[in-house]
Amino acid sequence: MGYVFPAPPHPSLAVKGSTDRFPVRRIFCVGRNYAAHAREMGKDPDREPPFFFTKPADAVADAPCTVPYPPETSNLHYEIELIVALGKDAFKVAEADTSQLIWGYAVGLDLTRRDLQQVAKDMGRPWDWGKAFDLSAPCGPVVPVAETGEITSGEIWLDVNGERRQTGDIADLIWSVPEMLSMISHSMHLRAGDLIMTGTPAGVGAVRSGDVLTGSVDGLDPIEVTIGNTE
Ligand code: MN
Repeated sequence: MGYVFPAPPHPSLAVKGSTDRFPVRRIFCVGRNYAAHAREMGKDPDREPPFFFTKPADAVADAPCTVPYPPETSNLHYEIELIVALGKDAFKVAEADTSQLIWGYAVGLDLTRRDLQQVAKDMGRPWDWGKAFDLSAPCGPVVPVAETGEITSGEIWLDVNGERRQTGDIADLIWSVPEMLSMISHSMHLRAGDLIMTGTPAGVGAVRSGDVLTGSVDGLDPIEVTIGNTE
């Protein structure tokens, strides 16, 4: 069997300390997972159950990189996030059994066309055009969990042009990684290669062409992403 045209390359991320790459299957993202960020988006963090959205696997890009300023927005926002990279399949897994699914961690950005997302919210439409555009998920290398240990606390931060804009602590996630993995797995089969973007702390804001974003999570190397010219 062949393909009717050459199959595209499989989306993947660099792996720290290896020439092998992490094959990306899907990207799951959680909305409003730090209380202070939920409040800045006008929501009550105590009352809402978690909700998820997705980005296409080929939205990833290896940071450091330059991401062109995307079309049809004048309000592109950064969101620094801890990313959990799965190495095993799972279905209806208990929270206590989720550790074994984790292959490693990365730092990444959930780049967001906030103006298009707001229109979608106002009109009760899907978020895809605000969230799932080309190169909307630049990520640093995946670091094996054997090297980091399980990440359950530690500072998460983002600077724009050297000025601190976002700070939080992984311990302050409203929904923990085990809770999220268990919840998603009760709705569909999780698969090896899936990435979970675990939400962003307070301080989101707009960027312009030429801005340099730097961010990290304790235990992982900082990533750097430059916003390029309008595509
Ligand atoms: Mn996000």
